[in-house]
Order: sequence, then C-alpha cells, then structure tokens
Amino acid sequence: MQNHFKLSEAAVQFLAQKYGTPLLVLSTEQVRQNYQFLTEHLPGVNVYYAVKANPDERLIDELVQLGSFFDVASDGEMLALAAKGIAGDRMVYANPIKTANGLQVANKVGVHKFTYDSESEIYKMAKAVPGGSVLLRVRVDNPKAHVDLNKKFGCSTDEALRLLFLAREQGLDVAGLCFHVGSQSKSATPYLEAIAGCRMLFDQAAQAGLDLRILDIGGGFPIPEIDDDFDCEAMLREISTALQEYFPNTEIWCEPGRFICGTTVNLITRVIGTQQRNSQQWYFLDEGLYGTFSGVIFDHWDFELESFKSGKKIPATFAGPSCDSLDIMFRDKMTPPLNVDDLILVPICGAYTSASATVFNGFAKAPRVVWEDVAAELDETAATVLPDAV
Ligand code: PLP
Repeated sequence: MQNHFKLSEAAVQFLAQKYGTPLLVLSTEQVRQNYQFLTEHLPGVNVYYAVKANPDERLIDELVQLGSFFDVASDGEMLALAAKGIAGDRMVYANPIKTANGLQVANKVGVHKFTYDSESEIYKMAKAVPGGSVLLRVRVDNPKAHVDLNKKFGCSTDEALRLLFLAREQGLDVAGLCFHVGSQSKSATPYLEAIAGCRMLFDQAAQAGLDLRILDIGGGFPIPEIDDDFDCEAMLREISTALQEYFPNTEIWCEPGRFICGTTVNLITRVIGTQQRNSQQWYFLDEGLYGTFSGVIFDHWDFELESFKSGKKIPATFAGPSCDSLDIMFRDKMTPPLNVDDLILVPICGAYTSASATVFNGFAKAPRVVWEDVAAELDETAATVLPDAV
C-alpha cells in the first residue's frame, strides 16, 4: 500500500477540540505529491485537473502554483476559476453537452477549448464559440471501472470521422480526440486499447485530409486504497510507453480528478447517538449521506472508518444526523464498539465528497482547515503520517 495523508489520533483529538466536528482537513503537501507523482510518471502529459472532483479553493491554489491546467464542466466552475485569476486558456470545457449559459461564460472568460460527442453540440458551438478548438470524445468500453462514464458519453468509432469533418465544415478548429476510461480504473488495459483505437482514428482522419494534434486520455486514475497491492507506477508506465509508441509527436492531455484529490482530505466526525435496533447496533454520526458521505451514493464509495478504539469488532449500521430515513451510510460495517462522543477519522475523503455535499435539513457543510496551516499548533506527538509518495 502506498502512504497517504492520515492524521494521528492526537491530531484528530486536537483538531476536533479546537475546530469542532464534522471537520475536513486538507493537506496541500499531499496535493503537491499527487500532482508530481502523475507528472513524473506520465512525462510530457499536460494535467487538466477535473475540478468537479473537489473544487476546494486551496487545492486549486496549490495546483495553480504547480502549473496545472483545469477541466471545467459548467459556468460555475469557469467563473470560480476566473475569479481566482486563472486564464481561460488554462481550462478545457470538457462537458460533451454544454448549456447556453456555459457557452456564454466560456466566451466571457476566454475558454476556447471544448469537447463534444454529438452533432447537435457542433451546431451549438459553431454559433456560440465560433472557431473554438474542439476534441471529439470517443466511447471506451470498460465495464470493470468503478464508475463507467461511457454509458453516458462518447461517440462510437463508426461515427467519429463524420463528426470530426462536420465540426470542421462548421468552422470549428478540430484539434483532436479525447476519451475517459471510467473512474477508479485499476488497469492500464482500457487506456492501451483506447490509445490504439485513437491512433487508428488519427490515421484515418489524416488520410482524409484532417491532421489532428491533441489526444486527451481523460481521468480515471485510481485512488490507492487500504490493503491494496495495486501498483500505480506500473500502470502509468504502461500508459506512458503506449503514448510514446503510438503518439510520439502529439500533444497529450489528461484529466485526473480523484487521483489528485482523493488522498488529500481527512474527515473527522463524531458519534452523536447509539441505538440497538432489530438486534443490530446503530451509530449516528454528525456527518451523513447528505454531507461529505454523499460519495456513498454518487460515487459508490465505501469509506474506511478509523475509531482508534480496540475491542472485538461488531457489525454496525452507521447513519447521518438528518431526520431522514435515507441518511444511512453503511450497514454491517465492522467496528469496535463505540460510544457517544467518540471521534472517527475518515482518511481518504477528498474526491466526490464535499463536492457533492448538500445543506439538506439545515446541516451546514463541514468546514475545512488546511493541515499545513494548523500543524504548527500541535506538539510533536500529534504528527501525522505524511507520505513520501502517493
Ligand atoms: N474528465 C471528465 C470529462 C469527467 O467526466 C471526469 C469525471 O467524471 C473526470 C475527468 C475525472 O475523472 P476521475 O475522477 O475518475 O479522474
């Protein structure tokens, strides 16, 4: 297993007492390490961080300093980045279906790179952002991905040439192809198949008189999980070798989301109630499905809970604080017995978590502190596990 940002028990106690719970703790150092890991192992590939995975301002600031580009999918994401002074040409509007407002904002903030996968989108872009640079998104079948995005997006290989030439006819700058193999992909194989497939399309386009210059290999790079013997370096090496073989002279982009942000945030939550129901133990936490644990629903993610307690583990149901019966995160989750006021650390909590949290039922979103800002307040015994690598 690779190391990642994980607060010690002493740090959890200190932060919970000082800032209250629920609390999100972001490590900007971990952001830097994740970004550098990817750029070192995919040399020459431009990183467009997928803002949707976690739009935290400090995370974005760190990535700006590292030289990252950004994948944005809405008017709100473009405006938020523009308000921070990020230039439009550091963004790609990578939503195959764009809103009228999104295209208007793209014009306003100078975003001129787009993705598409349908004919109707070509006419929309030709009218709203004439001459815009466009990448055609092609479908990649990968049923093994944790989240299979190709059910919703991507044109078939058969349609690709027609859509490329139609975009050119409509005055768009047809720049290349993109794909997304699906989220949390732990195998290089779908990338390799997609890269080979895109090579064929590049060649067919060239034979028909259209020279493509950009390939965007999307996101999907996985968060390292607990007890995982998965070798991320080996996976990236295979992808990099294929890119060098098939696309030695093409500009390559990637759009990582979860890989960059997943390990950068810890959640501290507290047991606020206990109950025996139908001979099963229930624990109620002050963070729930409508908050940071929204990833249980939207991202199908099973979070690790660290209670720092010993004792024989029992299966328990964990529910959130709202007065709503859907607000149950985990059933039969093995845990040492817990009491009201016990603190729980959720170490890998940065991707598709706070980004999709709501304020349903009047519960505010969990506030966030930055570990590197507050670490000095702790004494040495509260030091965290900080990573050497991702
Ligand atoms: N790019 C696009 C177009 C996406 O839709 C997504 C996720 O939905 C991403 C990148 C980021 O994916 P991941 O978090 O799997 O890296």
